[in-house]
Amino acid sequence: MSYKQKKFIRNWYKDFVESDEDPFLANEHLMYLAMLAKATPQAVWEYISRKFLGSTTDGPAGNLPLAGGLRPLKHSKDTNSSSPGYSLAKANRHLSQQTLQLVEKYVSACQRRRAHSDGRRKKNDGPFTCTFGCGYRTGRAFDWRRHEETHEPQELWLCSLCPQNSEQNPFLVNRKDKFLKHVKEVHKGWNADDVLQTSRVDFQAKFDPVCPICQETTESWDDRCKHIIGHFEDDV
Ligand SMILES: [Zn+2]
Ligand SMILES: [Zn+2]
Ligand SMILES: [Zn+2]
Repeated sequence: MSYKQKKFIRNWYKDFVESDEDPFLANEHLMYLAMLAKATPQAVWEYISRKFLGSTTDGPAGNLPLAGGLRPLKHSKDTNSSSPGYSLAKANRHLSQQTLQLVEKYVSACQRRRAHSDGRRKKNDGPFTCTFGCGYRTGRAFDWRRHEETHEPQELWLCSLCPQNSEQNPFLVNRKDKFLKHVKEVHKGWNADDVLQTSRVDFQAKFDPVCPICQETTESWDDRCKHIIGHFEDDV
């Protein structure tokens, strides 16, 4: 990294540590900083560890400015998002406290949405039926899946460019198209795909693996959706 990049990282990191009583450099901060500094997250992390944490190991030791330190970038495969005992907070321990709170709020609002039915649209027919019981129906598999995800979001993006403070609501959304639209409208001049990448929340979503039609167990959300679409297509 160049002198300029290092200086930028030092300044950013000092501000970051001072801005919070309990600073926690979560993955998304690191990704964001790496994007701003035009360096790889790995290089940024190594530099911060060396400069501020007096270590070159992969994680910070005790009594350091980082409260929890950087958690591993990848969560273990055995985080079981389909188990009946799924807890959003537990499955997403690797997120920063602030992000976790936003995610919990967002996801529970989505899960509550089924109460006020959005199935009362004028054109509400087709073989693809909402499995969350809101009455929505559609003729297009793509729309059906997108609808299912309004009840149980699977992917989330938290805009890394929007200031996250009490005066302005952070921009958090579960649809890629809406996120890209936000960047193009609000952050002109930024590369939307870069921002998409740095804003992606490493979110472990919940999903019910049991097919509501044949009770077969599916492996993943993607698998579940394809499986259920198969039933609806059989009905056509
Ligand atoms: Zn629905
Ligand atoms: Zn934004
Ligand atoms: Zn089935």
